[in-house]
Amino acid sequence: MAGFPTQAQTIIIGGGIIGCSVAYHLARLGRTDVLLLERAKLTSGSTHHAAGLVGQLRTGANITQLLKYSVELYDTLEAETGQATGWKMNGGLRLACNAERMTEIERQATTAHSFGLEMHLLSPSEARERWPIMDVSDVVGAAFLPTDGQANPSDITQALAKGARARGVRVVEDCPVTDVKVVNGRVAGVATPQGDVACQSLVNCAGQWAREAGALAGVVVPVTSVQHQYLITEPIDGVARDLPTLRDPDRLIYFKEEVGGLVMGGYEPNPVPWAAEGIPEGFHFTLLDSDWDHFEPLMEHALARVPALSTAGVKDLINGPEAFTPDGNFILGEAPEVRNYFVGCGFNAFGIASGGGAGRALAEWIAGGEAPMDLWPVDIRRFGAHQADVGWVRARSLELYGKHYAVAWPFEEHESARPVRTSALYDRLKAQGACFGEKMAWERPNWFAPEGVEPKDVYSFGRQNWFEHTGAEHRAVRETAGLFDQSSFAKFTVRGADAEAALTWICAGDVAKPPGRITYTQMLNARGGIVCDLTVSRLADDLFYVVTGTGFRTHDFAWIRDRIANGLDAHVEDVTDAHGTLSLMGPRARDVLARITDADVSNRGFPFAACREIAICGAKVRALRLTYVGELGWELHFPIGRGGAIYDAVMEAGRPHGIVNAGYRAIESLRLEKGYRAWAADIGPDYTPLEAGLGWAVKLKTNVPFLGREALAEQASVPLAKRLACFTVDDPEAVLLGRETIYRDGERVGWLSSGGWGYTVEKNIGYGYVRNAAGVTREYLEAGSYELEIAARRTPCRIHFRPLYNPDMSRIKC
Ligand SMILES: Cc1cc2nc3c(=O)[nH]c(=O)nc-3n(C[C@H](O)[C@H](O)[C@H](O)COP(=O)(O)OP(=O)(O)OC[C@H]3O[C@@H](n4cnc5c(N)ncnc54)[C@H](O)[C@@H]3O)c2cc1C
Repeated sequence: MAGFPTQAQTIIIGGGIIGCSVAYHLARLGRTDVLLLERAKLTSGSTHHAAGLVGQLRTGANITQLLKYSVELYDTLEAETGQATGWKMNGGLRLACNAERMTEIERQATTAHSFGLEMHLLSPSEARERWPIMDVSDVVGAAFLPTDGQANPSDITQALAKGARARGVRVVEDCPVTDVKVVNGRVAGVATPQGDVACQSLVNCAGQWAREAGALAGVVVPVTSVQHQYLITEPIDGVARDLPTLRDPDRLIYFKEEVGGLVMGGYEPNPVPWAAEGIPEGFHFTLLDSDWDHFEPLMEHALARVPALSTAGVKDLINGPEAFTPDGNFILGEAPEVRNYFVGCGFNAFGIASGGGAGRALAEWIAGGEAPMDLWPVDIRRFGAHQADVGWVRARSLELYGKHYAVAWPFEEHESARPVRTSALYDRLKAQGACFGEKMAWERPNWFAPEGVEPKDVYSFGRQNWFEHTGAEHRAVRETAGLFDQSSFAKFTVRGADAEAALTWICAGDVAKPPGRITYTQMLNARGGIVCDLTVSRLADDLFYVVTGTGFRTHDFAWIRDRIANGLDAHVEDVTDAHGTLSLMGPRARDVLARITDADVSNRGFPFAACREIAICGAKVRALRLTYVGELGWELHFPIGRGGAIYDAVMEAGRPHGIVNAGYRAIESLRLEKGYRAWAADIGPDYTPLEAGLGWAVKLKTNVPFLGREALAEQASVPLAKRLACFTVDDPEAVLLGRETIYRDGERVGWLSSGGWGYTVEKNIGYGYVRNAAGVTREYLEAGSYELEIAARRTPCRIHFRPLYNPDMSRIKC
């Protein structure tokens, strides 16, 4: 075709709201050599049939910021482009019809306050004043977000496309991408019926087609299509144009005003998957048949809430499919399989709300080569190999859809598609009462039920049923010994003559130590933010062993692999599946280990941060003297098939000392007391080691270059604008979960990045960053008086500058 381009710096697949938003924001960044290819017409996918509610509050601060930015953008887009958007900031109401839902809403209000979003709690009658046609006889309370709103999805998308075109972006409709060319692991171009186009980066914004589009390049995109329905009524008396959007989670429904009538949709607990065999050809601007039977329960709920619906005329029951993901969050970022292949899809029926912010974040990621902020909750590298299984993705996504409006309990575990990955010790631990949780498809013991207690979580916002049992595990680790199955740890080797040089550049800590030494280190981005937090053990001159958290396997592997400089003889390999891991922790750990190995495990023979190969039950075991719980201990890494024998030997040797099985909930409590940081909570790409109190782990005092060094050196010369601090709350009834707002002298200064109970110190413990643009010094922290907002109520708290717990070394035999 004449004029069809043969190359573009960036190609975007898909002209829904996300593709158009990425194009618009790339252009705003000055990256105008962009080609957007749409297989049919702009908005012809899920975008054209969205209801258009725009809510902002999410559980993560940065994702909430993205949605807040969408609102700011939609507020000005019409004026900028001249294209109507249907945007109005009519606010959003959320109802609670029982005490637990009210607690959830109060906790959400606190989260909103933490993230700088206005959210007011209302009485039922105040809620009714804002929504006069609803019955509030069963309502116990409500919350109102004044800056939420609604938009016309197709118009917003056309406005973004217009803004992009005006800056030079080329949009070609009726042009499907049929193949993707990958050369040396990098995307090189696409094929279309109109010709091939070379590119430097590719963005998959293909909505519910994103899995298919990903497969063209060998990229796994875990989305699945699910039907979603909403009803549109004729005008109803009393429905004002500025009626807020309304979410009624206990009745599983939502409403918005439309042309004087209502749009009413909902989330059924028994969702209907769609297109299991693939999306049919020609599915553009297409709707599915209305399924009145399936919608009926929602309709009954809606009639009880809005009696006027019973006499309202019904215009239509829209049934449209949408891309859902296995954890309810959307997917952004560079695919781990192919360099410069970016993904922006899987919007779980909040793509209109996310469109502006997600498009901007992805554009900045593409232009800058790194995520512009911590986007871990939506990062494509949060997934693992099991997400290639379509059946697994569908089962889990349907569970999440069905629970969309269920109360989001603290510590809740998913139920579907389990178990997938079990450790060699699974049956043994199950037989001893393990209650398993799941991470990256691995079954991991969260806690152990004593004889006569069912190993099953009972959820609540207060202390849950496992509280005392976890406490017993915690105390055993402090007083004798505990054994943790941590086989799900991600493990890599970095091998080659230049392995030391490669890791010296990637790691902020000094890993250039002799074989047999372990380094706890962070890996930083160019801004000095903590991208990975892990241990690196040197096994030989040319061999390192890297151990990181279960959930970070894909992410950390890709980060290391992609930052090994070209030409170096250094190769990273994922060896997770070859090694099981048992962590033996507690003051009696040495006595236990000494009984099952001939190796010298004395403090002199096996000092802290040493790594040795020892023999247990005739197996070669890599023992790492480390701790994440604040006690003497070893991680024992062994060939996966020998786990059972080694576990039995440790337990047998530990029995006289009172060893116990212990789970991940005990680890959390133990590490909170000792002040160990958790990645994705207390530390992450938005926080530097200096801000996190981890400056001691960084080789800044040497002259050795490393990634992130310049940013850190610059930061070291000015006052820190935020600093991680430890807080305790004396009120034993308070429950800290993270995201509680921190107030210093009455001013909001941050929020808790993690929170929980310390069984030894018998206190609620929270960690969070205190922010102050003029600088956060020790004196500044000491001079303040602090409160935490917990579920919308302020409680006094105390700040601490040392770990709350330190082991009594005199109890440990050297
Ligand atoms: C019934 C319903 C109600 C909803 N209500 C709301 C709401 O109130 N608020 C809200 O925020 N969200 C809502 N949503 C969700 C919202 O519609 C979606 O999240 C959003 O539209 C997704 O946009 P997208 O750009 O990712 O996908 P899409 O709009 O589906 O765009 C993907 C595009 O990619 C194109 N494409 C696919 N493959 C190729 C290829 N190989 N080559 C070229 N082009 C290709 C497709 O043709 C399509 O146009 C709702 C969804 C449904 C189904």
